[in-house]
Amino acid sequence: MNSSYFTEEHQAFRASFKDFLKKEVEPYVNKWEEAGFVDKDTFKKFGEMGYFGLNQPEAYGGLNLDLFYTVIFLEELQKINSGGVAAAMWAHTYLAMTHLEKEGSEYIKEKYLAPSIEGEKVGCLCISEPFGGSDVAGIRTTAKKDGDNYIINGSKTFITNGVYSDYLVVAVKTNPEEAHKGMSIFVLDREMEGITATDLKKLGWKASDTAEIAFDNVIVPSKNMLGEEGKGFGYIMQHFALERVIMGVNAHARAEYALDYAIQYMDERKTFGNKLNTYQALRHKVADMASEIEMCKAFNYAIMDSLNKGVYVVKEASMSKLMSTKIADEVIYNCLQLLGGYGYMEDYPMARLLRDSRLGPIGGGTSEILREIISKMVIDNKSYKPVTD
Ligand SMILES: Cc1cc2nc3c(=O)[nH]c(=O)nc-3n(C[C@H](O)[C@H](O)[C@H](O)COP(=O)(O)OP(=O)(O)OC[C@H]3O[C@@H](n4cnc5c(N)ncnc54)[C@H](O)[C@@H]3O)c2cc1C
Repeated sequence: MNSSYFTEEHQAFRASFKDFLKKEVEPYVNKWEEAGFVDKDTFKKFGEMGYFGLNQPEAYGGLNLDLFYTVIFLEELQKINSGGVAAAMWAHTYLAMTHLEKEGSEYIKEKYLAPSIEGEKVGCLCISEPFGGSDVAGIRTTAKKDGDNYIINGSKTFITNGVYSDYLVVAVKTNPEEAHKGMSIFVLDREMEGITATDLKKLGWKASDTAEIAFDNVIVPSKNMLGEEGKGFGYIMQHFALERVIMGVNAHARAEYALDYAIQYMDERKTFGNKLNTYQALRHKVADMASEIEMCKAFNYAIMDSLNKGVYVVKEASMSKLMSTKIADEVIYNCLQLLGGYGYMEDYPMARLLRDSRLGPIGGGTSEILREIISKMVIDNKSYKPVTD
């Protein structure tokens, strides 16, 4: 789609980012998929090119660009066909760093945000716990005040970049008696005593490390708290809007990649003496998929535009993730079918795409939880307000 949201500068950025990925990322993807993590040097290369600072303030080394540069960053990362590499990069930039930028003090921004933009430090965001990920207010990890410090105990699971990151942005209960109002957020250095991380084996996203993390009497200075005590839940919910549109954009981009590949394959593969792309049964399938993807794209771009203008888009962001990840799963399932037996082979892109795509309706708020949010907003007229400007 030749969208009006993209200027010539955006298109030039897309071309140069594609070149960068071709040179610095694509040749190593299979190696990282095998190893289960992305080389730290690659984060540094992204940092040197400014890719981690696209929407970050210039004061800390960022470029302060509009969110359509972020859209391009996300779309092109999906098109290298490794959900794991993409996740390692966007979890650092848009999960961990968002909290540092929005809630961090000057001290935190200097110590963690600036080196994150440079790619010198890598972060992760730790919310989900073994006792449940959907019930964010029900987390059990605690931070108890002790003089100028807090002492953290508990555990987190399924944390992207959780094994190899340099710092951890961690949601805790500073008042375990309270649900939403008892939550706060801290940034912890990896080397703080009492933090252990175990790598988890998983279906897809193989190039990103995913950890179960234990906190055993971790002493963290009070100045490492992000924002105000007791406001953690609000901060997390507020940033879910961006995270969910990001997952929507990722989904439409990966579906588009799958469909483009399938269309090309249908032009090359012949059965019964005819190209696959001459059979009406398959042509109509392609027409349906192309229409669904185009609608997701238009919707996701419109929401990014609203976010860019500072509009708080809880309902629309939830709808974006719900529908785009559902459509991506269906498109990729159908595209695999269009390749017949080759679709099932690792030498072709569909097998990895299918595995990676399945995370879409789970991570960052499951489809069931998104339906809960949307139904409360459209049936009960519930509305949500941001906790900060
Ligand atoms: C590869 C991967 C990477 C991840 N990365 C991160 C990360 O970086 N940071 C982080 O904090 N988390 C991360 N997550 C965790 C992810 O956000 C959670 O898995 C997700 O929120 C669901 O939580 P859960 O797995 O505990 O499922 P549960 O909350 O136990 O839910 C189980 C099932 O029940 C359904 N369900 C639960 N409650 C309801 C309800 N009220 N009504 C209807 N259905 C319901 C859910 O939709 C789901 O289908 C990651 C997960 C994976 C798999």
